[in-house]
Amino acid sequence: MSEQLNFEKTNQELLAFLDGSPSSFHAAANMKTMLEEAGFIRLLEGQRWKLETGKGYFVTRNDSALIAFRIPKKDFAGFQIMASHSDSPVFKIKSNAEIQVENHYVKLNVEKYGGMIYSPWMDRPLSVAGRIVVQTADGVATRLICVDRDLLVIPNLAIHMNRQVNEGYAFNAQKDMLPLFCGGREEARGTFLSMIAREAGVKAEDILDTDLFLYSRMKGTVVGLDGEYICSPHLDDLQCAFASLKGFLAAEPKESVAVHCVLDNEEVGSSTKQGAASTFLKDVLHRINGAMGRTEEEYLTALASSFMVSADNAHGVHPNQPDKADPTNRPYLNEGIVIKYSANQKYTTDAVSGAVFKALCRKAGVPFQTFHNRSDILGGSTLGNISGNQVAVNTVDIGLPQLAMHSCCETAGSRDTAYLIEAARVLFSSAIRGDGDGNYSLA
Ligand code: ZN
Repeated sequence: MSEQLNFEKTNQELLAFLDGSPSSFHAAANMKTMLEEAGFIRLLEGQRWKLETGKGYFVTRNDSALIAFRIPKKDFAGFQIMASHSDSPVFKIKSNAEIQVENHYVKLNVEKYGGMIYSPWMDRPLSVAGRIVVQTADGVATRLICVDRDLLVIPNLAIHMNRQVNEGYAFNAQKDMLPLFCGGREEARGTFLSMIAREAGVKAEDILDTDLFLYSRMKGTVVGLDGEYICSPHLDDLQCAFASLKGFLAAEPKESVAVHCVLDNEEVGSSTKQGAASTFLKDVLHRINGAMGRTEEEYLTALASSFMVSADNAHGVHPNQPDKADPTNRPYLNEGIVIKYSANQKYTTDAVSGAVFKALCRKAGVPFQTFHNRSDILGGSTLGNISGNQVAVNTVDIGLPQLAMHSCCETAGSRDTAYLIEAARVLFSSAIRGDGDGNYSLA
């Protein structure tokens, strides 16, 4: 199967998706457009759902999380779910952001969202994206904002003033990471919001609140002698979100409801109304079950024949730091989907879900590899085990191998996205039925 995969076309589409997604709100909006173009029908959580077999639907929460699904028939066996996340570590712009420096500079006050590597944010053009909420005649309305020009920079301190910088430097988020916005002026207060208001075509006094973030102006690109790698912001986890959606759109569900699920706020622990700890996925699955006229008993039966792939990027072996990887599990870029294991269940994978996913990869004809943390290095966490508290189904944690996770320019393989798309297509087209004693059929 993998010979037929079009790696180059996939990469170009992925890079276009990444370039168009400077914030989680933009990522959700781009997915919404792709779904609408494919004929999917938008549902609202605040309205009654009337669903029909053979049709596809999607719903968003907070404009930053999105769940799409397709119902093959009323007596479907279960749900085939792939979950990823829309957010990335970033700097968020605080209220009253302008700080005047000696009447000669104005910088912006920002705070951390998630755990990023600081240094790559310095000395490169940055800009601002996110959403604003404006006063309307009868309430408030959200507008997406992306300032599409080089606007800000966080300048490093010259080495002459910090001779030890290359021996390691402890960055202070309140002191070192504030971006330079403009030259000094008599009254700096309000200049940032006025600029945002001009971009949005609204009056500054009508902007009631904002969720605005910095983004790197670097566009995603292909590197390596033979184009082996891609470098881009937000590969964690929009590479998986994109692959999940492309596989979902290409799938033909027959026995199970296919569910493409992208949640927000993974980088800050998932405990928001649109995160993996929320009821979003559970609410959607419940409403599908109810709208198809099925009973609670049938819902629980369906969950037992459901399977979830928690797709969040994984660490590849680093060319300059190969010792940081486990001695016997060594994922490399371009060598396939990474199945993640952790004995203490930071990852949900167990022998059963790992085996089911390997069987899926074999069916899809795509390579897979395994990841364990070194036993003396504490790893990160992800959304699979958090989501399991709300929707308890067999789950495997996987990801695509990448380097420099949580840098604002990450590196991944240029073949792996296509592998995950194909695995997702097979997942969403399949039905996995459990007969209750650890045996599963894969149709
Ligand atoms: Zn992630």
